[in-house]
Amino acid sequence: MSFQTRDGRDWTPQYLITIDAKKCIGCGRCFKVCGRDVMTLKGINEEGELIELDNGDDEEIEKKIMVLDDQGACIGCGACARVCPADCQTHVSAAAETA
Ligand code: SF4
Ligand code: SF4
Repeated sequence: MSFQTRDGRDWTPQYLITIDAKKCIGCGRCFKVCGRDVMTLKGINEEGELIELDNGDDEEIEKKIMVLDDQGACIGCGACARVCPADCQTHVSAAAETA
């Protein structure tokens, strides 16, 4: 499968496939630039478990991290990779996925 820009130039999407929870600082930059609702911010409690942020019990949150919420919605625009300051995202080329 080949991909193109509007005027027909070659374009290879780079899909976001993982976010390293140990490296992510939960800054939210990737969330702000993503137009596809691929990610969501969650909390991690003392036990290292993921918890929702809107449960009204913020004291038990040790750290916030970004997680993949709807991976299949990603269009591979690469915007999240450009803004991440922590080098914690992994993208896969659409060319590799369809090879
Ligand atoms: S590559 Fe684009 S669409 Fe995919 S998660 Fe990143 S910002 Fe969202
Ligand atoms: S931009 Fe990077 S460090 Fe910030 S929340 Fe997203 S994945 Fe985490």
